[in-house]
Amino acid sequence: MTRLGIDYGGTKTKLMLVSDEGEIARDTVSTGGLRALGESVGNFLERAGATPASFALTVAGTLDPATGVVGHSANLPWLNGTAPAEVLSSSLGVPGVAVQDGEAAALAEARFGAGRGGDDVFVIALGTGIAGAHVVGGRVRRGAHGAAGEIGHMRTTQSEVVCSCGQRGCLETAIGGSQLADRWRDHGGAAGTGASAQDVVAAARAGDGAAVAALDDAAQALARALLDVCALIDPGLVVIGGGVARSPEWTVQPAVAAAGAAATFHRLPPIELATLGVWAGARGAAEAAAGVPSAVSRG
Ligand SMILES: [Zn+2]
Repeated sequence: MTRLGIDYGGTKTKLMLVSDEGEIARDTVSTGGLRALGESVGNFLERAGATPASFALTVAGTLDPATGVVGHSANLPWLNGTAPAEVLSSSLGVPGVAVQDGEAAALAEARFGAGRGGDDVFVIALGTGIAGAHVVGGRVRRGAHGAAGEIGHMRTTQSEVVCSCGQRGCLETAIGGSQLADRWRDHGGAAGTGASAQDVVAAARAGDGAAVAALDDAAQALARALLDVCALIDPGLVVIGGGVARSPEWTVQPAVAAAGAAATFHRLPPIELATLGVWAGARGAAEAAAGVPSAVSRG
């Protein structure tokens, strides 16, 4: 059965067609409103010469999984209060669902990326925000209220830095992309406006002591989070991806070493780097499309 995954990003949208045998076609198009997206997807399907049985569309933001209505999307604000999969479904004539973007990427990494073959995988995305997802038997465990996996908002530092969630000392305040640059500045570093995690790593490589200190704090916070995840859910494998993990020797590797040194009763599983990169969301969406009923009443 052919399925379409749509990773609806802030500036670029990634499209991937898959069959039961694997990938058929992929393309990247500029992100526009839902009408433009419908046109881009229609053109893509025409070029690929395929009609999918179903699709799934990622949403960067909060999503009611029961209704498919977007609560709040910071990057695609025109989606707020709409059911984008329903709109796209009527323009394409193909049934579809919306899925949360982090959940789609985690699903793909767990099933086809670094977690391939694992049955119990915890996936961590270290980006501007920090996302976590526990994938068991190929399904993301969302929790009773759809609120599970918020590893970025576990208090893993002694710092009093206030997080976007209102708490203090969350993992995200230590290792979130832009936050890492703020911590570099807190240590006396010369972080310019808009400095990124990559800038902090570049400074550390050049011998900047403040950048090294900020990265060390970040690794310690991630180590604490890894130990707490192991204490709570004892996963069979942990997969770590995202922009901040792109320089693993400064982030993931020291965190894994610190977690190993601090572990007491914990059973630390293998900890692998994500392998699917920027296509994880589209691949995971194509997978989520498999769960869409092929005959949908369109009243
Ligand atoms: Zn927080």
